[in-house]
Amino acid sequence: MQTITTIAELRHALVQAREAGKRVGFVPTMGYLHEGHLALVAASRARSDITVVSIFVNPTQFGPSEDLSAYPRDFPRDEQLCRNAGVAIVFAPDAREIYPAGSETFVEPGGLAKPLCGSFRPGHFRGVATVVCKLFNMVQPDAAFFGQKDFQQCAVVRRMALDLNLPIEIVDVPTVREPDGLAMSSRNRYLGGEERRRALAISRGLFAAADEFRSGERNVEKLIEIAKEQLNNVDRLQYLELVDCHTLERAASPLRLTSALCGAAYVGSTRLIDNVILSFPAP
Ligand code: AMP
Repeated sequence: MQTITTIAELRHALVQAREAGKRVGFVPTMGYLHEGHLALVAASRARSDITVVSIFVNPTQFGPSEDLSAYPRDFPRDEQLCRNAGVAIVFAPDAREIYPAGSETFVEPGGLAKPLCGSFRPGHFRGVATVVCKLFNMVQPDAAFFGQKDFQQCAVVRRMALDLNLPIEIVDVPTVREPDGLAMSSRNRYLGGEERRRALAISRGLFAAADEFRSGERNVEKLIEIAKEQLNNVDRLQYLELVDCHTLERAASPLRLTSALCGAAYVGSTRLIDNVILSFPAP
């Protein structure tokens, strides 16, 4: 496995792979890797000849009062996990490499970036779309792998790839959870013992609604209410919304199309997000 920090070296390392006709899979991350990230690596390895993982805590996707400087980092551990997982290249640039001095050009996503997290984190998806586009230009992968845990991010990135005519297959990978249901996240390490227990309310709420959906409940308000009933334990619920999977607009009731029940909440000072997909069997 190679660890690379500059774009020039990265391009050089990938030329040969491409000339040899190798399919390149790409997993963008902010590091502090866990099983969720490793599931993306496994999905990439299953479909690609070589897998590139980027580790870059992207400043432009954090708001001024968010946790950029406190974001957890452990590069040696990340490298070891990547090595064990069969990653070919870890790309770990610093911010000056990604944002050259005087940088002033951004990718501005449209309506998909507005609801849900977008309405609480202004500019977040602009930062995400910009860094993902830049990384796509650097790696030029055949396929890129994203976690369904960040459901809106998947939608924004897929739309961006279409709109900017990027010849990259965008693959979603199901959310990996702790045995008790909590969605894995680098931010889970902020949770103290009692907060960790209370954080479970989010997945419990989503699962309770998904169970009712499987039992035939199709009323949108009702499904949202069922999930909310579990959420007394969180400190601040930002949103809990049932949205159409493609438009991210509030799903029409009764539910007829595959939808996503998405939530964001603070437990202590940690902001957690999660979602479940309520899918209809193919006709
Ligand atoms: P992050 O490092 O948090 O920016 O995440 C990098 C990638 O890993 C994103 O595509 C995330 O959606 C994905 N990811 C994070 N947590 C999980 C999880 N629990 N299951 C699956 N994918 C995840």
